[in-house]
Amino acid sequence: MLFKKAIPGFLKTLGFYVPLNCPLCGGAPADGTPNMFCKNCLERLPFIRNPVCPGCGGELYGILDVCPDCLHAEKKFPWKRAAALFKMDGMAKEVIYQYKYRNMPELARPLGRLAAGVMEQARIRPDLIVPTPLHWFRHLQRGYNQAALLCHEIGRETAIPVRNLLRRTKWTKQQARLDRKQRIQNLHQAFSIIDSTNCKDRCILLVDDVMTTGSTLSAAAETLLASGAAEVDVLVLARRQRD
Ligand SMILES: [Zn+2]
Ligand SMILES: [Zn+2]
Repeated sequence: MLFKKAIPGFLKTLGFYVPLNCPLCGGAPADGTPNMFCKNCLERLPFIRNPVCPGCGGELYGILDVCPDCLHAEKKFPWKRAAALFKMDGMAKEVIYQYKYRNMPELARPLGRLAAGVMEQARIRPDLIVPTPLHWFRHLQRGYNQAALLCHEIGRETAIPVRNLLRRTKWTKQQARLDRKQRIQNLHQAFSIIDSTNCKDRCILLVDDVMTTGSTLSAAAETLLASGAAEVDVLVLARRQRD
């Protein structure tokens, strides 16, 4: 068992992607192809079911086509549609924690394949896929940008090009601990555009791992729209309820 774990670990340090079984438990992949979760793990993941709210990507329960939070929100989100893979609960929390903080970039492969499926379902067909950038210092700390790896996998599945159009210009505090006014101040000019030629008149899918309040993604989407993007949609792995 130790041996089985040690070899992929060793190859990973050499920079290889190892086509493992289910990256969470080592079980057989659900669809028989490498780099997919096993049936057991898939069943435990809290997938968001249709119909979903286009504002925040959450499940809809009532008869309206937007959720009460988005309907009554002071400020609407700047994107056209939002889609999310999971509710930020139980096993999804665990998977995202492993992906972001436990040096498991190989989770990008199955997560990216599932995310491409969600795009297909939501009929999101952008010209470009753009990752939400990390501040360079955080990138250095973590060694990889989880949103960029995810974009790479989604791009591979859908054959849609991935471009780094944004730069994070400001080290921002954890949004979740701030109130609305502080969040807006915190994110003021947090992003800048790197490549406005590729942004202009394009339909862009902005990708991140988690949407908590939506204010980080709003700031990034507004930067793209201010640089001439025709439309922005967002896709995240998991979403938390808005406050
Ligand atoms: Zn598994
Ligand atoms: Zn909503």
